Amino acid sequence: MRRSRKVKILATLGPASSEEPKIRELFEAGADVFRINMSHADHKLMRTLVSRIRNVEKEVGRPIGILADLQGPKLRVGTFAEGAVELEPGQTFTFDDNPAPGDTTRVHLPHPEILSSVEAGHRLLVDDGRLHLVCEETDGRSIRTRVVTGRRISDRKGVSLPDTDLPVGALTDKDRSDLEAVLETGVNWVALSFIQRPEDLAEVRKIARGRALLLSKIEKPQAVARLAEIIELSDALMVARGDLGVEMPLESVPGIQKQITRAARKAGKPVVIATQMLESMISAPVPTRAEVSDVSIAVFEGADAIMLSAESAAGQYPVEAVQMMNAIAEQVERDPLYPGIIHAQRSEPEATGADVISAGARQIAETLNLSAIVTYTSSGTTGLRAARERPLVPIIALSPVPDTARRLSLVWGTHCVISPDAVDLDDMVDRACRIAYEEEFGRPGDRVIITAGVPLRTPGATNMLRIAFIGSDGLSSA
Ligand code: PGA
Ligand code: MN
Repeated sequence: MRRSRKVKILATLGPASSEEPKIRELFEAGADVFRINMSHADHKLMRTLVSRIRNVEKEVGRPIGILADLQGPKLRVGTFAEGAVELEPGQTFTFDDNPAPGDTTRVHLPHPEILSSVEAGHRLLVDDGRLHLVCEETDGRSIRTRVVTGRRISDRKGVSLPDTDLPVGALTDKDRSDLEAVLETGVNWVALSFIQRPEDLAEVRKIARGRALLLSKIEKPQAVARLAEIIELSDALMVARGDLGVEMPLESVPGIQKQITRAARKAGKPVVIATQMLESMISAPVPTRAEVSDVSIAVFEGADAIMLSAESAAGQYPVEAVQMMNAIAEQVERDPLYPGIIHAQRSEPEATGADVISAGARQIAETLNLSAIVTYTSSGTTGLRAARERPLVPIIALSPVPDTARRLSLVWGTHCVISPDAVDLDDMVDRACRIAYEEEFGRPGDRVIITAGVPLRTPGATNMLRIAFIGSDGLSSA
């Protein structure tokens, strides 16, 4: 089964989509990667979901990527005697280290390191920004604030501190335990929430030991400020517009989305656009025009993947939401303006064999109107560099390593097939032609371009381009 689009669809699983038949329906509707949100799934549920996805993978015979999303250092207030209180704009309100239930004057903030880092003038945003307070004074154990807008605050609501550089790493104790569990279960990508600095990736990288690739969620202004360094140390990026829109002015989010997308494309790292893409489909079978336009912008920008959150995890129309995304993506990619827009953001190849071969393959494939670029990639690096070129023809990535194929399922334009290494050059060409034929990318008489490294089975040595005809038996004809 092949997709007729380049951009990938990432669907979050949840109560609306955790049964195996539903996961299969989502795959068939177009989901390429599934996200398991560790803020909501315990280890048992996570393992159940992974094994269901792997069952579906076996049934459909296509590699499926799994992304485990760690909750990260999400700050929350304590509880109130009455569960909630109403505040008056202009009044003072204190966050402190006293675990006693809160009232209209104070509440516990169970993060001692935060109490000592907030400074006068810093903003505190509670409940996705619905309540906005400003710090007036701190003494290391409490923060006295004044209410600017909003009224209601209730048990365990989230707190954002857009002005404060927090002395916390990217991993909480819960994240560490979740990380071990998801790595053991064999997920392909781990997403890190609320990272602030490049160092936040180091600890996770050390624990992961190559078992999964790391996706950095950009959702704090501190991360936007150090974007280049974070991209350098990440394997993929997410424009996490939900929290980004709380921590930064909403009107700055579209520009930041473009900035992150372009920088990630330039670096050849996959970038996911996330949150509220088809939000109204949580409770309606059709999206708004504005949502359709929003999804289309991400596709026109050449993002690697577009994501569904509650739409697929907890909404009433999870399958319809994936179908809608798929339909928008296919239509945008057929638009006569699409190639020019994608091309305008293409970067020059870097000075590596994989880059120049990928650039050459793209140019030849487009000029000769070939059916596909077939790339042999064992670690996935050459697959990523081929995708960085954003060729108009499909990329078929062949890897003997199942996890490489699963990882690449997040990557723009790549159709991954698990295939043993070729034994010699003839076998390599025959195999490429046969797979292009079997996977319905070309018919007898069509041509493909093949990239590989010679000698074969030497990782990181992509140095060869070959044009081949698909013969009448699906093999190559010289
Ligand atoms: P979340 O991340 O859904 O885990 O909060 C995405 C976002 O913040 O946009
Ligand atoms: Mn978030």
